[in-house]
Amino acid sequence: MGLFNNTSDGITKENVLKALGHVDDPDLKKDLVTLGMIKDVEIDGKTVSFTVVLTTPACPMKDHIHNACVNAIKLMVDKEAEVKVNMTAQVTTLRSEKNLPTVKNVIAISSGKGGVGKSTIAANLAVAMANTGASVGLVDADIYGPSLPILFGLGDERPKLRKVEGRDKLIPMEAHGVKLMSIGNLVSPDQAVVWRGPMASKALRQLVFDTDWGDIDYLFVDMPPGTGDIHLTLVQMLPVTGAVVITTPQAVAVADARKGAEMFRSQQINVPILGVIENMAYFVPDDAPDKRYFIFGEHGGSKLAHRLEAPLLGQLPIQQGIAENSDSGHPVALYSDSDIGKSFHQLTEGLARQIAMRNAHIPPSQRVEITTN
Ligand code: ADP
Repeated sequence: MGLFNNTSDGITKENVLKALGHVDDPDLKKDLVTLGMIKDVEIDGKTVSFTVVLTTPACPMKDHIHNACVNAIKLMVDKEAEVKVNMTAQVTTLRSEKNLPTVKNVIAISSGKGGVGKSTIAANLAVAMANTGASVGLVDADIYGPSLPILFGLGDERPKLRKVEGRDKLIPMEAHGVKLMSIGNLVSPDQAVVWRGPMASKALRQLVFDTDWGDIDYLFVDMPPGTGDIHLTLVQMLPVTGAVVITTPQAVAVADARKGAEMFRSQQINVPILGVIENMAYFVPDDAPDKRYFIFGEHGGSKLAHRLEAPLLGQLPIQQGIAENSDSGHPVALYSDSDIGKSFHQLTEGLARQIAMRNAHIPPSQRVEITTN
């Protein structure tokens, strides 16, 4: 029986796949069948069931794709079909190294200057991403000024050890669904501050490689501000999927953020920029919620995104609650019904989308080999 027949004997696996071959993933711009996203097609009388395997549980197009599948079957196979779509996700990866084989994507969170909210955003992105059902890890690579232990309420914790294949490995700490490793939980903060480059690089290697991460879809790395040894160490250690750039709107912050981002984009390092997030973009007074004051200027984030040929993933307001919740170890992204919680959820969806597109369209990043003569 042919396509567009609208008869019950039109319900065959072949016709179902033909119909789903007309449903495109809006980001990857190919149909779900070609992308290998349709699994387990089953037909039972008028009931058609199948699984759609999305590229991330944070997919903002989930409902859209679900509805498009149902419509395609009803329109092209049988209008009376009962369509049961099981939506699941398997995060894509391009990593094929023996180093950390269970970690699918490594995402550097970077900024040009300190104090722009990079760690706050790294913490909240990680929490919001974990909230979508993805497995998330977070490395505090800000060796000289680790702040993540406090943001996660883990200030006094010490990671435990576990034997893995005869070697002692650190067990990452866990809070709010995120696995976390920070130098702040291994040595006292005044100890790390005095370390020189090689010690800091060694510490980062230990945090990443001596930790038993388990399966991780997204490993976020909270970088120190600017560019330096730690950045070079990271790109030599692992192929980095991409970098997210955090800036505030001021021209000086934007110029520094751009410098940092250009390092990732340079020919030798070749790590794509997944997007820009503008923090402290505006202020909304409590007594005038319709007003937005652009205290630090306007358009800094969008200009930077344009220069870096990357999307502006979002703009976050200056909000007292962000700082207060950080200090109490409860990142605002935990409050998913609040406006700011929703903003972080949207940012996370946008980022997950960029990662999926990056994995579909750009060749894998390589570890940077530095040869000295
Ligand atoms: P960085 O990692 O870039 O040095 P932090 O994340 O430590 O910056 O943030 C610096 C300070 O600014 C912290 O006290 C943090 O709570 C506060 N902060 C960050 N983002 C915001 C925001 N959008 N509104 C209000 N305070 C913020």
